Amino acid sequence: SLAQRDESDDEQQRRERAFASAQERYYERPMQVQRGWRHHLVDTTGRSYVDMVNNVSGLGHGHPGVADAVNRQIRLLNTNSRFLYRELAEYSERLLALLPEGSELDTVLLVNSGSEAVDLALRVAQAATGRRTVVALREAYHGWTMASDAVTTSAYDNPNALASRPDWIHIADVPNRFRGTYRGDAADLSVGAKYAADLGSDLDTLAAKGRDVAGFICESVLGNAGGVMLPDGYLTDVYARVRAAGGLCIADEVQVGFGRMGSSFWGFEQSGVMPDIITIAKPMGNGFPIGGVITSKRIADALSDQGQFFSSAGGNPLSCMVGIAVLDAMEEEKLQENAQVVGAKLIAGFTALAEKYEIIGPIHGEGLYLGVELVRDRETMEPAKEEAAAICERLKDLGVVVLTTSERSNVLKVKPPLCLTAESADFVVEQLELVLSTGW
Ligand code: PMP
Repeated sequence: SLAQRDESDDEQQRRERAFASAQERYYERPMQVQRGWRHHLVDTTGRSYVDMVNNVSGLGHGHPGVADAVNRQIRLLNTNSRFLYRELAEYSERLLALLPEGSELDTVLLVNSGSEAVDLALRVAQAATGRRTVVALREAYHGWTMASDAVTTSAYDNPNALASRPDWIHIADVPNRFRGTYRGDAADLSVGAKYAADLGSDLDTLAAKGRDVAGFICESVLGNAGGVMLPDGYLTDVYARVRAAGGLCIADEVQVGFGRMGSSFWGFEQSGVMPDIITIAKPMGNGFPIGGVITSKRIADALSDQGQFFSSAGGNPLSCMVGIAVLDAMEEEKLQENAQVVGAKLIAGFTALAEKYEIIGPIHGEGLYLGVELVRDRETMEPAKEEAAAICERLKDLGVVVLTTSERSNVLKVKPPLCLTAESADFVVEQLELVLSTGW
């Protein structure tokens, strides 16, 4: 409406004057959001949207359990984590209990964001091995701090992005079986093996140059590439090679972990591996800033040999109680199960659309971490970037918030709050069909 346009325009100008332009903003014509409830966002005109992108709000927006936990704890006690209080141990134990049976990881470090978690994980890996070199995959996003940005290798349209990585980073090929160096269907085990062998030769070359590897970091499902599942056998093979070279394996679970996969709590379980270091953040606090590193005592203790670790707000009573409230709600509301059921429904819906509309290429992901890749040609995989942006803009006008991802900005990312209902999933597929059938 006119009123909405006016208010959004004012807010846009205000933001552009006062806020850094280095941070991107969604949409050409953004709505001004005012309220969130479960998997819905509501704008200043009262219009509601199905929110298909807010993975930080894992439980859904405005969760009363989280609100009550904040209210209760901030009135009772909030102090830095050098004091002794019950909440820190309780939350750490709850996090460790989420690990797969037989895991030897027994130590938690708490920080305030995903970037901090990745930064700390890299520091821990370097401290524990006494080495510097870290191997990261192409087309990854791991954060904005000095170290997490160093392993961020997404180039987008910026030609300097890769050349400006520091010298302790080695960038390995991204194992994308749909459009990468080696391609093939899911059953073709040779695809993962070839990517892993290439990474193995990279490790040999690095060692020959005196650059033995401290660690290898990747998302357990390639979130930033559009929810692309790793080829079968790839991670098992790579982890074995990295460990044989004396390095540690870091799984960045900031986006893909924490129940989102539906069929498993962790992304790495999809590949049947167990990392040495895990990074977590986004959904831990349902919007409240919490991040963490899970590793073994042996690895974490290396930090004390090299100075110390302390985060003023990381692991404070407030963030621990919020984290516990999130875990309680996830269990009570069976959100991992819901991700599996509703995710399967979305996959079926998108797959049916792919049979009718040529622009839909591969459908990536699992559970409620999905990517619908849009291509101009299924053979050449030419990215349908402009089309994807226009489709998102149209979907917004129809009440669905979906945005693009991948370096080619041609994948519709689908990572809603885990409370998404089957009814809303149907609505989203119907609206996408409306856009595809009537044009954008
Ligand atoms: N790792 C991954 C895989 C991420 O997707 C992100 C955020 N998009 C981060 C780390 C950084 O998290 P934060 O924005 O909380 O610092």
